[in-house]
Amino acid sequence: MPRISITSKLDGIRSWSLQAIDTCPGSIASPGVLVDACKGCYATTGNYNYPNVKAPREFNRTDWERMDWVDDMVAALENDRYFRWFDSGDVYSLALAEKILEVMQRTPWCKHWLPTRMHKFPKFRMVFDAMKALDNVSVRFSSDSITGEYIPGLHGSVIGPDAATYQDQPGSSLCRAYEHEGKCSGCRACWDKSVDLICYPAHGQKMARVIRLMQA
Ligand code: SF4
Repeated sequence: MPRISITSKLDGIRSWSLQAIDTCPGSIASPGVLVDACKGCYATTGNYNYPNVKAPREFNRTDWERMDWVDDMVAALENDRYFRWFDSGDVYSLALAEKILEVMQRTPWCKHWLPTRMHKFPKFRMVFDAMKALDNVSVRFSSDSITGEYIPGLHGSVIGPDAATYQDQPGSSLCRAYEHEGKCSGCRACWDKSVDLICYPAHGQKMARVIRLMQA
């Protein structure tokens, strides 16, 4: 069976994830250099390095290739009303993306949120368009910026340096998890297709260091 994780930050909403960086081709700016948004990746620090957190992600890396993986995922989501794809990692394979699309199509009772940088690779466009056409799916193309820069109509999320510099705009929403000890606390904006852009204030000491270096 697929290994599904529970994320306390997301009010206990469940997610299916892979190990960060090695399944994130969209995180590479140039050989050996990560894009700014991934330099402070939370999924490479702290709890994410514990063996019991890494093991399911490594298991999932090959498990999805099974013939009956889609059937198993659909059955596993029977009681979920919200689901997050890739708390860490990314949809690095077109075959995986096509399987996730089928899971989304066969679980209309569940809202899916899939953040990704794989939109940079044209071969993924058709499968992302098919996901976006579903009422129960929010696919968010992540901007690489950590200073709030994004392309309207393309990006669905961006990191901004802090909440104080966030400028409210129609269709955008500031993630206010920082006001609730880092938890969603009932907010479901990331799953809401009517919200064009989510702005996440930078979090974590590692990301704070990256931003300081960028601004030096
Ligand atoms: S915008 Fe809302 S749903 Fe998304 S991570 Fe922040 S608190 Fe959670």
